[in-house]
Amino acid sequence: MSKRPKIAIYWLGACGGCDSALLDLGESLLELAEKFEVVIWPAALDFKHDRLRKMPDNSLALAIISGCVRNSDHKAMAELLRAKSRLVLACGACACFGGIPGLANLRPRDEIIEWVYSASPTVTNPEGVRPELSCDVNGEQLTMPEFYGHVYALNQAIKVDYFLPGCPPPIDLLLDAIKKIVGKKPPQRGSTLAPAKPLCDSCPRNRSKPARMAITKIRRAHETVIDPGECFLAHGIICLGPATCDGCGGSCLAVNAPCRGCFGAVEGVRDSGARFLASLAPLLAPEDEAGLRAMIDEIADAAGYACRFTQPVSILGEKELTEKDRE
Ligand code: SF4
Ligand code: SF4
Repeated sequence: MSKRPKIAIYWLGACGGCDSALLDLGESLLELAEKFEVVIWPAALDFKHDRLRKMPDNSLALAIISGCVRNSDHKAMAELLRAKSRLVLACGACACFGGIPGLANLRPRDEIIEWVYSASPTVTNPEGVRPELSCDVNGEQLTMPEFYGHVYALNQAIKVDYFLPGCPPPIDLLLDAIKKIVGKKPPQRGSTLAPAKPLCDSCPRNRSKPARMAITKIRRAHETVIDPGECFLAHGIICLGPATCDGCGGSCLAVNAPCRGCFGAVEGVRDSGARFLASLAPLLAPEDEAGLRAMIDEIADAAGYACRFTQPVSILGEKELTEKDRE
């Protein structure tokens, strides 16, 4: 029997991009396979839930889990993996903060169901059929996971030992994180495995920032042409670099797109969206109060901008949860 530490790789509510990033490890995957026994990885290996259920508790060295918790199946799998694993790594923005799926928290569950199953112009559903938790098909009972009224980050459902942000995490950080976690001197539990500084600190455009920034107009990226060396924010284009953790290598900035915050908050800051809005406010330089109102109104979806990847862990844009949502 193999003496290599066992690891599991699993995705919950996610697009699969983090699993693709793992596959992008290429030859480094062979290095991983030499060091670890990958016992569960549905995206790449055959896998049966029963195999995981039958393993003794704590028998896995590490579970690498991507995706948010959106339904009862995600929650059950997260709890099962937690029970079987000595360490859990939340991999990617969805697991760390809820990610893009977390924006669904800006709408009530019933409104989402209504849109997806009836109101959307591309849907044809004259009988108004809705998903049922169980139904009879030819005498057999089929069951479906329950769709929760709220999207949760992984650590809102189970205890998480390490966080690796990004949408998806860059492969160098991913490989480094796995080696560190199962190495001789693992990082402190609860750590975010990315540099503890904001993206602006490593952004080459930072040098173009004026000593005193004064934004007189909020612009969307398509409304202006910006020189690839210029700071987006100085031109009134919302860029979350000041409030976002470094570590992605500035991939969006390199293709002349502003940062949308997929690395979340710098370690020690709870809410990157709230931090960003707080840091933006003193940079606004309207002529008068009406001008200030006009500038704020130009931000079409402030919560969506500031918390595109982080709503479930943010204080911004939270809809009022009903008892049904909390079930
Ligand atoms: S605000 Fe954006 S463009 Fe400006 S320095 Fe920071 S990361 Fe770079
Ligand atoms: S620039 Fe921002 S949004 Fe783009 S990859 Fe980096 S952290 Fe994510």
